Amino acid sequence: MIGNRPKIVVLGAGYAGMMTTKRLTQQFAPEEADITLVNKHNYHYQTTWLHEVAAGTIDVNRSRIMISDVINTRRVNFVHDTVVKINKEAKTVQLENGEISYDYLVIGLGFEKATFGIPGMEEHAFSIQSVDTSRMIRDHIEYQFARYRNQKNPDPSMLTIVVGGAGFTGIEFLGELAERIPLLCKKYDIPRQDVKIIDVEAMPTILPGFDEELLSYAKESLEYRGIEFKLGTMIKEVKADSVVVGEDEEEIKAGTIVWTGGVQANRIVGESGFELTKGKVNVDATLLAPGHDEVFILGDCAWVMNNETGKPYPPTAQIAIQEADVCAHNIKTMIYGGTLQEFKFDDKGTVASLGGSDAMGTVFDGNKLYGMQAKVMKNVIDDRYLFLLGGPMLVLKKGKFRPF
Ligand SMILES: Cc1cc2nc3c(=O)[nH]c(=O)nc-3n(C[C@H](O)[C@H](O)[C@H](O)COP(=O)(O)OP(=O)(O)OC[C@H]3O[C@@H](n4cnc5c(N)ncnc54)[C@H](O)[C@@H]3O)c2cc1C
Repeated sequence: MIGNRPKIVVLGAGYAGMMTTKRLTQQFAPEEADITLVNKHNYHYQTTWLHEVAAGTIDVNRSRIMISDVINTRRVNFVHDTVVKINKEAKTVQLENGEISYDYLVIGLGFEKATFGIPGMEEHAFSIQSVDTSRMIRDHIEYQFARYRNQKNPDPSMLTIVVGGAGFTGIEFLGELAERIPLLCKKYDIPRQDVKIIDVEAMPTILPGFDEELLSYAKESLEYRGIEFKLGTMIKEVKADSVVVGEDEEEIKAGTIVWTGGVQANRIVGESGFELTKGKVNVDATLLAPGHDEVFILGDCAWVMNNETGKPYPPTAQIAIQEADVCAHNIKTMIYGGTLQEFKFDDKGTVASLGGSDAMGTVFDGNKLYGMQAKVMKNVIDDRYLFLLGGPMLVLKKGKFRPF
């Protein structure tokens, strides 16, 4: 503590970190607590929009928000630095450019790609993980078009894009590609049929866990716009310019390979000695790390058990945002006394964008939405987050209030 003030440190300015910081500033008066937020960029980005950045259907700047525009930096000590390690016993965080100590720590460092040991995946496949990695995918795809156009006898596989995984991120990315590729074809005078977009998924279905009708709708919509699916097909190996798939080890030559098939907690968490289960930390219902009554772990770094299903909640922004409320409340309770709150997910529904004005999903009590209706709802969900974070001005500046 500094004087009598507890020192609260939040690591990562993603959904979990930003909303926790926001809630902490609302719950504590300036003289009650020192709040520090550490992030490796001076901006916060909308991870849920990164597939659009990666496909090039929105500008990078649309997806990012300067932290100082939404967090009162006279109230919060914002440290623009990269976390290297957490020293749990000493209660310090090692940064690239220094060290900070804490009384209460909130870890919201997000995800990184999980490759499940598939040879070559780490080296040769892109992943939609941050603004930087997404921008690289966008530029790489366009570069392949430019190269193809400028070679005498171009290799047609230059224009093949293989996407690994047909979960939420994979499907949303394919939807954006279905919109973006015809524009690139026009720009570079390339016939659309010269471009192949192939999704490879180990499960026999896309979007495992989704309602059958919804996923059939999504698959048909994407197939209609030229996406090919290889379902029930494992990726065996990724090479610099090809992907080896299936029992017969078919080799698909491709100019762009993007892996969306798995995420795990930021490696800093495991490297700092927190015990991992399937790549994440099993926190208790109050979001505390096991054995550490001063460390909360939120968002994609944590598994929180859903007691009704006996399975952990999936990694979503919606959950990360709701966890932030419980975390801020519990830090206040630990300081002033009372009963810690347990996390209970209030499911407001899930909508997946399919590109352009198409989408599908469920809202509130399981109502199914398709097409433009679903897209409007998706935009409402995105705008609601912006409103929670930065009020109406942020919605006006960055919001998706138009359906397309
Ligand atoms: C393309 C895509 C689409 C998605 N769509 C949806 C959707 O429609 N709905 C939904 O609910 N969920 C969706 N998700 C999932 C959702 O984005 C994640 O569950 C959510 O981002 C998790 O929030 P978080 O706060 O844990 O991590 P993040 O939002 O990833 O934030 C982590 C933060 O930590 C920072 N950071 C990382 N490492 C360091 C370091 N070493 N030092 C300092 N800072 C660091 C990062 O810069 C980042 O700001 C989608 C995910 C993707 C990739």
